[in-house]
Amino acid sequence: MAADESVVRPDSPDAAMAELVAGNGRYIDGRSESHNLPSARGGLAAGQSPFAAIIRCADSRVAPEIVFDQPLGELFVCGVAGNIPTAEIIASLEYGVAVLGCKAIVIMGHSACGAVDAAMEHRHDTNALPGNLPQLIDQIVIPCTVNADPKAPGALDAAIACNAKEGVERLMRGSQIIADAVKAGSLKIFAGVQDLKTGRFSLVK
Ligand SMILES: [Zn+2]
Repeated sequence: MAADESVVRPDSPDAAMAELVAGNGRYIDGRSESHNLPSARGGLAAGQSPFAAIIRCADSRVAPEIVFDQPLGELFVCGVAGNIPTAEIIASLEYGVAVLGCKAIVIMGHSACGAVDAAMEHRHDTNALPGNLPQLIDQIVIPCTVNADPKAPGALDAAIACNAKEGVERLMRGSQIIADAVKAGSLKIFAGVQDLKTGRFSLVK
């Protein structure tokens, strides 16, 4: 059940992305509409039907509901540092797609991502990182994030975009449920990057 039955819910992958782009525009311009009124709680308690799923970074400056100007109940958000599709994230997304009917999955990278930066800096030996971090950062040490000179201008931005795009392929390879939904046309996967300074979310080509 929708939180607010008067809201027109995106009914296709492209409509879902269009609503996220529109919401991002409202956020950038300071015209956000999502005020999460107490009156909406009753409907939300009865069920959820989010129209899009997001893989976000754990970074405190990345909040999909705010950046895409969506109220509670509209986005199925999964988070991990580096916004990578780990096995647990993929399983969560399978629920979002197969059970909840999400029309789009958005892999949401962001500028100045510390996880991607760590993958570049420690690309030859992630074991120099403390605790459990090597197991996480190893998953971001992929050819396109580490083959460039980390000190070169724009190298981190390029690696962040590449890491987000890589996630699309990993989702397709890692989940038959997601791959089947994409092939059937009921789901699209988008990769993009949020610029922390402007707030703008731009799709990676
Ligand atoms: Zn990050």
